[in-house]
Amino acid sequence: MNNWNDWIEAQPQVVPMLVESIKKQRLAHAYLFDGQAGSGTMELAILLSKSFMCQEKQGANPCLTCLDCTRIDSGNHPDLHKIAPDGQSIKREQVDYLQKEFSYRGVESRQKVYIVSDADKMTGTAANTLLKFLEEPQGETLAILLTEQVENVLPTIRSRAQHIRFHPPLKEEIVKQLMENGIDQKHSSFLAELTENKEAALRLTEDDWSFQARGVVLQLMHELYTRPDQAIITLAEKWLPLMKERIHQEMGLEMMTLWLRDLLYIRVGKQGELVYSDFYESYKELSLSTSQRLITLSLAKVMEAKSQLSANVAVQLVMERLLFTIQEG
Ligand SMILES: [Zn+2]
Repeated sequence: MNNWNDWIEAQPQVVPMLVESIKKQRLAHAYLFDGQAGSGTMELAILLSKSFMCQEKQGANPCLTCLDCTRIDSGNHPDLHKIAPDGQSIKREQVDYLQKEFSYRGVESRQKVYIVSDADKMTGTAANTLLKFLEEPQGETLAILLTEQVENVLPTIRSRAQHIRFHPPLKEEIVKQLMENGIDQKHSSFLAELTENKEAALRLTEDDWSFQARGVVLQLMHELYTRPDQAIITLAEKWLPLMKERIHQEMGLEMMTLWLRDLLYIRVGKQGELVYSDFYESYKELSLSTSQRLITLSLAKVMEAKSQLSANVAVQLVMERLLFTIQEG
């Protein structure tokens, strides 16, 4: 992931814009990269730093072999500084230190970059100190602030940096990260579909709720299409007791959506995309005996159930209605 093209798929809006600015030498003094964990904010901040400092770049891409590039790669470029929270917050002393470092090297060096991770975690005084820095950029200085919670970044800081919103991480990227955390493939792809990022997915693995829910939803949906009377019992005895909280109920419905989507995927020969891939054998038969119209209709009904839930209709009523309308086709 060492050149801009490698990132185009993950960040289709961000990459062309930055590439244009690099080529036209119109980079802003400060950027605010706003994106969830796994979306590549730090990786692109480093790549942008290289493109900014490299003297041998080809188009927008850094050469990767010059002294600037190799020093950035090994993490010891004297003109690239990184700040991250020290404990809970980024403190004023950290910003002071950064400014001092920069002024020492004021004459001899050319471009300077600083990257501030979790910019929303700056204390008030740290933010104010940084603000002065942003207002009086010295020479060719590039500031890249990263945040996962842009609403917590001080408005004064936000207004002085060009705000760049990152696309959420690609599912494959989340799956990869989850597997690196020791979660098997089957659950990784399931969790990645249910959540927005790795952190949220990992939180779901702190207890076995999601694993139980997965099993219950698989059972419920299969019964709904093969033994509908049993599905009503499974709803009462298993689904409802497990889905006590609203967030669980919404996720339960989302799991049903994924199940139905799988069924559609099989009909159109996209087996590789299945979320419940371990269930393929029993899916195969079902997808042959269920019309595409019925599956699409069921998907629409699940959507309806979701909006009824958000309108505070009682969950039992919502779910019973849902099962009955799907059964009736
Ligand atoms: Zn270079």
